[in-house]
Amino acid sequence: MLWLIECIYCNNFVYHLKDGRLKCSKCHKKTSKEKINKTITLIDAFVHNETALHTSKRLQLSYVSVQNYFRTFRSLCSIISEREYEMKRHLPCEFEEYFYLENTKKNKREATFDAQNFLTFDYHQHIYTLLLPSLQKYKTQLLEDNAEGVYIETFKKFKRESRLIKVHQYDNNIVKFWNYFEEQILPYKGVKNEAFIYFLKEFEFKYNHTQKEAKELLIKEYFQL
Ligand SMILES: [Zn+2]
Repeated sequence: MLWLIECIYCNNFVYHLKDGRLKCSKCHKKTSKEKINKTITLIDAFVHNETALHTSKRLQLSYVSVQNYFRTFRSLCSIISEREYEMKRHLPCEFEEYFYLENTKKNKREATFDAQNFLTFDYHQHIYTLLLPSLQKYKTQLLEDNAEGVYIETFKKFKRESRLIKVHQYDNNIVKFWNYFEEQILPYKGVKNEAFIYFLKEFEFKYNHTQKEAKELLIKEYFQL
């Protein structure tokens, strides 16, 4: 493996220290082979959509530690995603609004306010998502105004319309992303509101890249190469 004989930061040759670590001859950074290997193995599992629980069992690592690594990778996905968006934002694009509601909540009226509302932009086959403010804060206002029913009806109508888009435009990249997102988020039941953005960005990032690209980008970002 490349990083065992070369420095991962500057590609110059490394010295092997007595404690097992490597020290770069040029930039003098010290690295541990085990740590680098562990990180890259975890990035690999993350990119292949292995769950933190499964990964921790397979690699005999603590679940909490794997979870922390995965959380870090998820935030790196969103950093890379924003950077890629900066490169694309001048291009013409199409966009659609989407409401995501967990399957178990889909038939509950009051759960309408738990929906995650986001915009999806398609820049020439490159997806970018923008999470809109939570609907929760409107709930109290609508209840006070007695307008909750009207709101729910409008929402239902909207959901019917978005289903129509799904039926008619199979090859629409935005719809393809929504289907992908719904499928990928499924194993993560009950994602907390604060964490939703990170899952959205994770799947946006994974949708835009092959697994090989995703792995390389995350390694670069993690080690600040
Ligand atoms: Zn170096």
